[in-house]
Amino acid sequence: MARTYIKDLKVGEKVTVKGWLHEIRGLAKVKFLILRDYTGIIQCVATSDNEELFKKVKTLNPETVVEITGSVVANKIAKQGYEVAVEDLNILGEVSQVLPIQVVEKGDINTDLSTRMDNRFLDLRKPEINKIFQFRNTIYKTTVDFFMKNDFMNIATPKMTSAGVESGAEMFSIKYFNTKAYLSQSPQIYKQMMVCSGFEKVFEIGSIFRAENSNTTRHVTEFIGIDFEMAFVTDENELMDFTEEYIKELVKATKAEVKVPSKIPRVPFEEVRDMLNKKGKKITDDIDPESEKLLGELVLKKYKSDLIFVTNYPWSKRPFYHVKNGDGTKGFDLLLRGVEIATGSLREHNYDILKKQAEEKDVKLDDMKDYAVMFKCGAPPHGGCGLGMERITQNLLGLDNIREACFVPRDPDRLTP
Ligand code: ATP
Ligand code: MG
Repeated sequence: MARTYIKDLKVGEKVTVKGWLHEIRGLAKVKFLILRDYTGIIQCVATSDNEELFKKVKTLNPETVVEITGSVVANKIAKQGYEVAVEDLNILGEVSQVLPIQVVEKGDINTDLSTRMDNRFLDLRKPEINKIFQFRNTIYKTTVDFFMKNDFMNIATPKMTSAGVESGAEMFSIKYFNTKAYLSQSPQIYKQMMVCSGFEKVFEIGSIFRAENSNTTRHVTEFIGIDFEMAFVTDENELMDFTEEYIKELVKATKAEVKVPSKIPRVPFEEVRDMLNKKGKKITDDIDPESEKLLGELVLKKYKSDLIFVTNYPWSKRPFYHVKNGDGTKGFDLLLRGVEIATGSLREHNYDILKKQAEEKDVKLDDMKDYAVMFKCGAPPHGGCGLGMERITQNLLGLDNIREACFVPRDPDRLTP
């Protein structure tokens, strides 16, 4: 018999459902098998009237994979208002050892994060955890739809590179035949290259690797970057307008509980510094995480917004390719409840200025031949932005730790499973 998904069950039908035994409850003469599939949970009932079946049911353990055939019958007491009266049951996947963690945690068992991540495949079976990834999936779909609808070209850039544009310290080195290569810490060079290749508007959703201290609740060593770059942008406000439109679509599609005003405030770094200094947080040219958090609270009070663009960051803290604006830069960070979720800027496309800016940061532009040449062969004015998929998921949902938003997280202490 063809399989019916739990979400599609209708009273009166004879069906075959397949999935995991979420819970088994029962009495001497009746057993309730709570079955879970990708689409939902349903109660199935077996009674001792069918002796052979009942014998089999009594041996079952939670998380066994089974196939159940029966009739969907109305039952006011059941959660859904109906249940499946079991007529036949087959075991498709045995549970032959004690489960390392429980999928349904009873009482005050509260497995710690590390143990959960050690047994992530079981942890992901929990409906409440599964929901995080349904949410993330909506972000993915909305992102692709948004960029496609705006005529962006989806690009795929190399994840093994000879060097990056940011400082090398954060890069993982790998053996590449007889030479050394690095795992990509940003698609920056390549997205600029694709703009210079005439695609004009490009985006990528791809892996990013950073050998940085990720023992925080918002860093991992491998994450999914959402990156875009667009040509003929001459004002950072255009970039913010577009980023804002994108974020609003994400909030709408995910129905996230986030306060988004009709226009997200754009506050220059200097003003932010004053706001924080007034509250006793002394910052100079960068905002530390603790100050960012306080900023999130101040912004919520002042602007009734969970989101803020901090603009015109000091040049001293920005990479050489951001367009200068006096002592500042034509760029922004987007913060969600006091956590950075995006950084964007106009990119310097004038070769001579870029070279000078690089020198100021001790970067030798002409050593980066493949990058430098792009600015001597007709580069359009351009700009772009990079966001983190897991950061967005974490902070739209208000999750304590970014690891909750990674299928299988990687950090300095974790290379398994
Ligand atoms: P942070 O200051 O939070 O370390 P960053 O400024 O180094 O971030 P960017 O280089 O601006 O990060 O990267 C763009 C986006 O990628 C960030 O805004 C963030 O959403 C995400 N991101 C950066 N580093 C990480 C990380 N280690 N783990 C998860 N997401 C990250
Ligand atoms: Mg940043």
